Amino acid sequence: MADGLRSEAVDLLSQLIRFNTVNPPGDERAAQEHLAAHMTAAGFECELLGRTHERPNLIARLDGPEPGPVLCLLSHVDTVLATPSEWTHDPWSGEVADGFVWGRGALDMKSQTAAEAAAACSLAREGWRPQRGSLLLVSLVDEETGGADGAQWITATHPDKVRCDYLVNEGGGGFVEYDGRRVYCLGCAEKGVFRFAVETHGVAAHGSMPRLGDNALLKLGPLLQRFAARQPSYRLTAEPQAFLEALGVLGEDGDAAAALARIAAVEPRLVALVEPMLGVSLAPTRAFASEKVNVIPSIARLAVDCRVPAGLGEEAALEAAHEVLGTEGYRIEFGQSVMGNRSPIDSPMADFIRGWIAREDPDAICAPVVLPGFTDSRTFRDAFPECTAYGFFPHSVRTRFEADPLIHGADERIDVRDLEFAAGFFRDLAVGMLGAGRAPA
Ligand SMILES: [Zn+2]
Repeated sequence: MADGLRSEAVDLLSQLIRFNTVNPPGDERAAQEHLAAHMTAAGFECELLGRTHERPNLIARLDGPEPGPVLCLLSHVDTVLATPSEWTHDPWSGEVADGFVWGRGALDMKSQTAAEAAAACSLAREGWRPQRGSLLLVSLVDEETGGADGAQWITATHPDKVRCDYLVNEGGGGFVEYDGRRVYCLGCAEKGVFRFAVETHGVAAHGSMPRLGDNALLKLGPLLQRFAARQPSYRLTAEPQAFLEALGVLGEDGDAAAALARIAAVEPRLVALVEPMLGVSLAPTRAFASEKVNVIPSIARLAVDCRVPAGLGEEAALEAAHEVLGTEGYRIEFGQSVMGNRSPIDSPMADFIRGWIAREDPDAICAPVVLPGFTDSRTFRDAFPECTAYGFFPHSVRTRFEADPLIHGADERIDVRDLEFAAGFFRDLAVGMLGAGRAPA
């Protein structure tokens, strides 16, 4: 059985990678039809629903004999672009070599689509059905550019078709090694985005006579230096607190900076992954001033990408900006903003996942994490407040230190053993959450 599951997941992943679904434009229909045919043959009821013909979302369902909890295995099949000249194997070859499946989407996230589908189909073909409730497999389009045609559209237009009580998606499941122990990351929350512009003001004049004006661009200089010097103080929320406690690095005083220093002394590579979870982050990414090279600018603007822990909003972003910049000499204007959100750290599904890890990898621990970015889970949590949504795609071989840098990078690939491990997890999760029923004879 295990061999069958592995080869089904590997074959599916290779096939999905061969459909070029770089978004934009995405053009996911062929990949979705392929997946729908596979699911239908195994006994799932499939629907393709899209805002446009070219970009349908796939909803596959397997119902038990009576109503009950709905478990949704979520993923997206669009990818970011790839530059073939930078790759060892063509990014759309889906080649299996050296124990890896290679290609764009091998981690983000056709691998999870393939593992979820192989798990669900293998169960269905064996005659398994939910004892009660339903198993949903939902494969979305358009995640990489924000989900307007995918998660947002489907939850707004067809909420009843994708409403669920439990959801697993990307955004967790990888592990890190810390102090001789493996720590699996359970993605429980996602940060919000509160981008803003810092604006300075002056007086315009001809560029040939600088003293006649008051150059707004020069006033950005000291502000930029303040950004370079520091980040805002940490604001520890529930998930990173639990993570630091699981690592055993958080003292009684709850001092996140001291905890991070302890981590840095043992495993410096972990700092870059942990620090964004600990509070608001500020990253100036663009500066803009005069339209013309010979005009002293009266306004200069700095764009700042600001990420805020789940549960905190614009006020926290503003407070962080004031802490770093002071309050004088500039104006702040907020632009795009999206609240982060979370699911409970403790739930029946979290219990199942921790129990599963304890069985499969007895010396390991499983700890909650916050995603610095955001995924479709954010949209589903907003649409269905009762839904518990986690990021969990467990790896058993390669650590996050090895896998994370390949996401959106060159030579994206997944170890076949990791793919098999995840497929086994999704099988067990479905049975664990929905019970072991049988198809009517
Ligand atoms: Zn993704």
